[in-house]
Amino acid sequence: MTMIELAVFLVNLLIAAQIAELGWRIGSWPGLIIGFPVGFALLPVACWMLGKVLPEVPPRPTCPNGSCDHDDYEFPRSIGFRLVCRCKCGLEFVRVRRRFMRVGPSDTLYPYVVWKRKKGWVADPKGEGKGTEEASQEG
Ligand SMILES: [Zn+2]
Repeated sequence: MTMIELAVFLVNLLIAAQIAELGWRIGSWPGLIIGFPVGFALLPVACWMLGKVLPEVPPRPTCPNGSCDHDDYEFPRSIGFRLVCRCKCGLEFVRVRRRFMRVGPSDTLYPYVVWKRKKGWVADPKGEGKGTEEASQEG
């Protein structure tokens, strides 16, 4: 056990003791017996929930031509605060939260793919995964 793990364990124990004491005040021995494990589970459960809530950073998707992967992108410039990802075919994209948007003429953004937690990158329903102007006008 590392020092950090020990510290977390002690904090966890402290929380458990607090909840157990609260349980004791509410319901005597049964309150104490229920309160301790509930208190002990509180921190791990909170951390687990935080992991669910925090945004994950997915790798970059394959380009529409299917020839470039995560590592094949360069970052030649930015649009506002957004970094432009350029694949080897010369296509440009920006990340907008969970979406990977195609950069068109005069820096117009078109839907390409959306990140889904379970499925990974899927075709953006707004643009059917084409990443073109025509696609965005259809929907
Ligand atoms: Zn490409």
